[in-house]
Amino acid sequence: MSSPYLDPKFKELEKEYNAVVQCNRCGFCETVCPTYMVSGKETLSPRGRNQAFRELLEGKIKNPENASEIFSTCLTCHACTNVCFSEVPVAKLMSSARACAQEKNNFYPLQQFLLSLFLSQRKLFSLICWFLFLCKRLGISKILKQLKLLRFIPELEAGEDIILKTPLIFGGKKNVLKQRKQEPSLSKKMKNAYFSGCGIHYLYPKVSTACLKVLNLSNLGIESPNHSCCGLIAASAGNLKIAKELAKKNIKEFSRLNPNQIIVDDDSCCGFMKSYGELLNQDPQAVQFSNKIKNISEFILENEAIPQIGQTKTMGKVTYHDPCQMGNAHKSTDAPRKILQNLKGLAFVEMDESNWCCGGAGSYCLKHPSLAEDILERKLLNIEKTGAEIVITQASSCLLHLEYGIRKKGWQNKLKIMHLAELLSDSILQRL
Ligand code: SF4
Ligand code: SF4
Repeated sequence: MSSPYLDPKFKELEKEYNAVVQCNRCGFCETVCPTYMVSGKETLSPRGRNQAFRELLEGKIKNPENASEIFSTCLTCHACTNVCFSEVPVAKLMSSARACAQEKNNFYPLQQFLLSLFLSQRKLFSLICWFLFLCKRLGISKILKQLKLLRFIPELEAGEDIILKTPLIFGGKKNVLKQRKQEPSLSKKMKNAYFSGCGIHYLYPKVSTACLKVLNLSNLGIESPNHSCCGLIAASAGNLKIAKELAKKNIKEFSRLNPNQIIVDDDSCCGFMKSYGELLNQDPQAVQFSNKIKNISEFILENEAIPQIGQTKTMGKVTYHDPCQMGNAHKSTDAPRKILQNLKGLAFVEMDESNWCCGGAGSYCLKHPSLAEDILERKLLNIEKTGAEIVITQASSCLLHLEYGIRKKGWQNKLKIMHLAELLSDSILQRL
């Protein structure tokens, strides 16, 4: 029976309402919430967000748009749920909360239409990225910023500072095909599939190449079918409908191959795809798909894919930053550490609060640059305390934001940020 307090106009959000009322306002979560810790504002805490969402669903907030800042500033880092006795899934609730708060906004339907168009048409998305990156490479965006013309699109203005390098060659899948031609023996045992997340695909094609080198060496057979965005961008923007459509599309594309495992190069996508089952109401095909999802480190460790990893070309003290969507959301933290601890030439050192978000969080650092920088500062201080010369991670938004922080601090000569696959690819090159 539905709660008498739930506003009938939100009756389709009964599941979300039942989850949010589990919050007993104990405040136990606040000390792990980055946005609360850096702002000190109750409205930017998990408890504050739950309270605002509950009031919205009970029809007590007359203008829901007033609450949109409370919801949009959540990093969806899942840190609060891990310490909450009631396990209130705040990060997951925020997708619905954002949608409810924005639907009266005049631009919302247009935003949603464009989001749907770009995410489902990867070629169109590629073309737009290519054009934006060309503008950056030619210095056009810098000039527009100096003329203060970029302030009308705050995301582009923040992006001008944060994004340093802009590749104009996109291409995880191109790399797969190239490599497969070089290694025809792999075609005989196509057993696993590779998924390249948008961030790696568009911003870090060199990581994609490194992943493929590592995966090819595993000799377990890798193929990469056409695929769409994983849907995390849509879910974060409050559009679960598009996220579900993208999830179904990906499940369909990969089911043709029927792979044993699906290796995802970006931890943010990886974590989200591990939750397709939940996203699609435990649909058996979606659950089966989710169970096959692995990031590079899980795949290597579980399959003993690279039995003897050699000396790394990069040597020194190394630490690991846990991307939230794997570390906090799926508690997948052991595999990268075990690999790093076994690499010769490297000394692994654990950092304090390794699961503290770096502030990147997809496009969060573009939407909320000031909060994101305060959150990043604490991460950088924890990295500095380790004395490490290399920080390893497995998500594109962490690579981007940590690299930005390192440049801002002027630490480029003493600290390097790499995807785990890049480090492994170095070590493999050394061994061959
Ligand atoms: S989200 Fe959980 S830990 Fe935080 S105030 Fe609510 S019940 Fe307490
Ligand atoms: S998901 Fe992260 S940012 Fe959002 S309320 Fe929880 S701890 Fe705070």
